[in-house]
Amino acid sequence: MSEVKDATRDGLAGIVGAKSVFTEPEVLETYSRDQSFTPARKPNYVVKPKNLDELQSIVRLANEQLMPIIPYSSGTDFHGAAVPTQGGILVDLSQMNRITELSDLYWSVTVEPGVTFAQLQKEAAKKGLRVQVPLMTPPSASVLSTYLEREPVPGAADFIYGVEQIQTMRVVLPSGESFTLGNPAIEGGPHSHPFGPGLNFWRLFMCAQGTYGITYEMNLRLLPLPKVQKIFFSEFNNVGDAIAAMKQIQRQELGFECFILNSFDLATLVVNEDAATTKSLKNGTYVGLDGAKPWSPAQCQRFDALRQGLPPWTLVVSISAWARNPEEKVEYQELDLRDLAAASGFELKPSVGGITGLDKIIADEMVLPWRMQKRFGYKGTAHSLMFHATGDSIGLIEDALGQLAARYYYSAGDIGAYIQPVERARTFYCAFDLYSNPTDDNDMEKVNAFFNEASEMLINLGAFFDRPYGPWAEMMYRRNGNYAEYLKKIKAQLDPNNIMNPGKLCF
Ligand SMILES: Cc1cc2nc3c(=O)[nH]c(=O)nc-3n(C[C@H](O)[C@H](O)[C@H](O)COP(=O)(O)OP(=O)(O)OC[C@H]3O[C@@H](n4cnc5c(N)ncnc54)[C@H](O)[C@@H]3O)c2cc1C
Repeated sequence: MSEVKDATRDGLAGIVGAKSVFTEPEVLETYSRDQSFTPARKPNYVVKPKNLDELQSIVRLANEQLMPIIPYSSGTDFHGAAVPTQGGILVDLSQMNRITELSDLYWSVTVEPGVTFAQLQKEAAKKGLRVQVPLMTPPSASVLSTYLEREPVPGAADFIYGVEQIQTMRVVLPSGESFTLGNPAIEGGPHSHPFGPGLNFWRLFMCAQGTYGITYEMNLRLLPLPKVQKIFFSEFNNVGDAIAAMKQIQRQELGFECFILNSFDLATLVVNEDAATTKSLKNGTYVGLDGAKPWSPAQCQRFDALRQGLPPWTLVVSISAWARNPEEKVEYQELDLRDLAAASGFELKPSVGGITGLDKIIADEMVLPWRMQKRFGYKGTAHSLMFHATGDSIGLIEDALGQLAARYYYSAGDIGAYIQPVERARTFYCAFDLYSNPTDDNDMEKVNAFFNEASEMLINLGAFFDRPYGPWAEMMYRRNGNYAEYLKKIKAQLDPNNIMNPGKLCF
């Protein structure tokens, strides 16, 4: 081992203790790849800090030694963002997992990066509260980095804060200094306002893939658990009609959670798995480093039968009511929703495809989703095309994706789709999933080529990849060099040595 390597390891051990520094090849291997097509690359060191002091010292050491540093919260990102591009020190933040300031007065909580959705939801429920969870996220995902990476939640967010659940946060800058955003920036301020004073710095650190600093604390908005909830389903033959109905519902501000699933995704959500699999799904460990165990022939049959019995597109809308007159609120919203459906020519149903208890399954998923992980077992792994688009472009995008699939001998029926409104349907968040078998190199190569060509094509059709992971970074920044130049100028000020996750975004 070279001197520099020893010096780094000794330095890290001096900060966190030798037991929290890892250089064993088999450990480094587990941090070297994920389910994306990002080329594997091992870090040189994995280090697990326990507190802010240790984290700051690690960042200062990396700066002194000009070592890349890669923040990693739960490693379930699957888009290659925490896979090192140049080796370096991977900072696994899972030991920083404290939940503090859980308040039923302010409906907010402070979390560290290692806090998972399963952990937080359990604590919040003790006070009758819950955190909103994106439907595709497993229970083992870090709350902080899921929000930091701007994965949207299905609940209707108001226009002031947009889809953000973040109130305030604290960041370790590349220099090792700590920086507080929002009103706690003024000593003793409560966590009630993310903006200012002056510029909204907090957004600078969002979707930065760890390139601008390491967020070590985040204060989030919570919601009360619903007292009464009713869930409705509507069937559509094409995505355009489903979007039109969703727009109407959202414009009238009816309901809370609202989303659309195609028959593939809905069948994945409800298909029965065997009992042994349920545990790993609920723990969020169903998808391992090498993907998920492919479904059994019996499960494939159950899935096909289900899929065939479902409408091509299903719109789901939930009406939730909290402490004040909950029955009354659900009743009048249901009446309004029924009026709107009748006027617009769609039906509201208690289920689709004859599935019993579908409303209960969906209610359960909206508190702690775990069933959507199952889709990885369809072929072994999945690759999401996640973007924002206006309502009128989604039909074109879906058509074009189906046509391109044929050129790759990929069945258009094997594309999963999930769509949710953003800020009352001002725009839409879409996730179209492609599937491949990770043990079959030819299949992986084919789906990788399809994924890349589809990404370019979707951007040309109006898809906005606001989280530019992997190949999307080059595709997005190539289309606006000026924007990338300014990101680089800010980066040069914050991180002159380019130690923070180099190789990501345009850095
Ligand atoms: C089965 C499964 C299905 C999924 N499906 C989807 C899906 O359909 N759509 C979707 O969008 N996501 C999906 N995800 C991703 C999931 O929601 C992630 O859990 C989420 O994005 C957070 O990832 P993470 O905490 O594991 O981040 P990591 O992998 O730890 O990191 C993600 C990025 O954030 C940076 N980072 C991490 N922590 C910090 C920090 N404290 N400060 C600064 N930067 C940091 C990292 O360097 C990296 O660039 C899926 C995950 C799984 C396991």
